Amino acid sequence: MLISNRYVPAEGNPASKIWLIGEAPGWHEDQECRPFVGDSGRELENALSRVGLTRDDVFITNLCHYRPVGNKFEVLLKHDALYEGIHEIRNLLETYRPNVIVALGAYPLQFLTGKQGIGKYRGSILTLGGEHFSEFSDHKIKVIPTYHPAFILRNRGNQPVFSVDFQRIRFDAEFPELRYTEREIYIADGVGYKATLIGNEPPIVEEHPFDYGYWLERVLSTPIVSSDIESVKGSTTILCVGFGLSANLGVVIPHYDAKHREFISCVLSSKVEKVFHFGTYDVNVLLDNGYEVNNYTHDTLLQAHVLAPELPRDLAYLVSISTREPYFKEDGRKEIPGNIKGWSTKRNKKDLYIYNGRDICTTIEIHFVQVQELLEDGLLNYYQYRMRSQHCAIEIGRNGLARDMERVGLLKLAIEKKRAKLWMFLNKLAGRRVRNVANKEICKLLYDELGLPARKKTDRKTGKQTVTADEDAIVGSMTYVKNHISKLKRADAIAAWKAKLGVLTLILQIRECEKQLSSYINISDYGGRVRSLYKVGGTETGRWSNSKYVDESGLNIQTIPRVSVKVEEWMLVQVAESLK
Ligand code: URA
Repeated sequence: MLISNRYVPAEGNPASKIWLIGEAPGWHEDQECRPFVGDSGRELENALSRVGLTRDDVFITNLCHYRPVGNKFEVLLKHDALYEGIHEIRNLLETYRPNVIVALGAYPLQFLTGKQGIGKYRGSILTLGGEHFSEFSDHKIKVIPTYHPAFILRNRGNQPVFSVDFQRIRFDAEFPELRYTEREIYIADGVGYKATLIGNEPPIVEEHPFDYGYWLERVLSTPIVSSDIESVKGSTTILCVGFGLSANLGVVIPHYDAKHREFISCVLSSKVEKVFHFGTYDVNVLLDNGYEVNNYTHDTLLQAHVLAPELPRDLAYLVSISTREPYFKEDGRKEIPGNIKGWSTKRNKKDLYIYNGRDICTTIEIHFVQVQELLEDGLLNYYQYRMRSQHCAIEIGRNGLARDMERVGLLKLAIEKKRAKLWMFLNKLAGRRVRNVANKEICKLLYDELGLPARKKTDRKTGKQTVTADEDAIVGSMTYVKNHISKLKRADAIAAWKAKLGVLTLILQIRECEKQLSSYINISDYGGRVRSLYKVGGTETGRWSNSKYVDESGLNIQTIPRVSVKVEEWMLVQVAESLK
């Protein structure tokens, strides 16, 4: 039997302003014949009570009214019971119109809106639609997705975000309209055009000649503007630069013409205050392109860090809590290939420019919300101090660290020699030439050939299990092998299992050598210096985090290993020769 034969009905009044739609009943719900009465139900009731609501204020139902075996929703995907449940929801919507439908988790999001990815869409104001509710697409019935309460029970760190989503649900329950912020973006591409953005509706694009003089004056007479660049991933090639004058108005300047560069240069070097989101990145790219950037006074990432260091700070999250804009992060950027060549063709970048426009308008909108919160919390001075340290961080990262090339050469030789020796031993113990130490090859060696129990890892987001030979798996296998050896008596059996232990140890050691070479030795530098990128608001504790420089040269200088590497006499001679 794939599903329970007990029908768990919806609960509450369908005339309520809020409908909560879950996946399917669990064990407790099946026993009591009521939706959301187990642990998930308690979590849900707590979330409701924090915004002044009880179960009696809402209508609660599930996509499917029958519990699937093992609580696995996937079981229902090919089962009529699921589609009957969805049909019931459709029927109810013929009579009732809630102001907000709350999609609890990934499947309700997918079935109610046609969108995938609860982590991305949670908190967004969406509309009912997609394959299963297409007849309602024109009715603009609000759907606000949030995490499933069971997910919150397993991932407590997301609980504050869940709470914030319920604040929006509570607020939006009072009216049926979407109340998206309308944004006008003027784009200096070709002769120019204007894009009008209203929530997740397709942008309205109209011809509109771009008047450089007029817009330059407007931007320069605005006291504070947001700015954001789009660049080719892993390079300092700029594709466009946007300036947000307000939540409703932005200009986007592509980056293929002298006229464009002049406009960008005038604004960046002006006294106008600038707000970036993680501007450390943008400012480095702009400086590398020869621009002078003055008055970078605000950063929404840093503001978010000062306000709530334990919460997410990425722009998509900030958009979801401080604006009414639905998730849009994949609209234009997904097309950007990770290399410059991809852009050398006449690829249409319209979507990217519009995406940039949405970014700058939401950034300035978020900025004003955050400044108000900083003021209310008495954190403005502290934030300004952090902003000053961000400027130091940019300087430090850009200046980089000088490399002692003699030592780099020596370390390279020593690590390569050590690695060659380790490979020799590994091939001997494995009884064949092991091709590499990547996951696929090592899984084959350990689990198929050496007969060790296969180790799996679960993707936290999708719940999917895959066989793995990652560091945790190898360390776990080493413990397993050591335990096994301790129970053995016969010398030949002990020797055979010790060889397996040797294989595991050698794999870890070879991987360590590879990491040392790829992350710290064979890296590109900048005139003999390695640059990096600091994130002043990068960690919950307030410690600066660090990563490679914007062009992916350099390294994360906070993770340089301290292990010693044995250097032999001939290496010293060879390096001295090469440096002559
Ligand atoms: N999970 C759900 O999705 N629905 C319930 O009713 C209970 C747990």
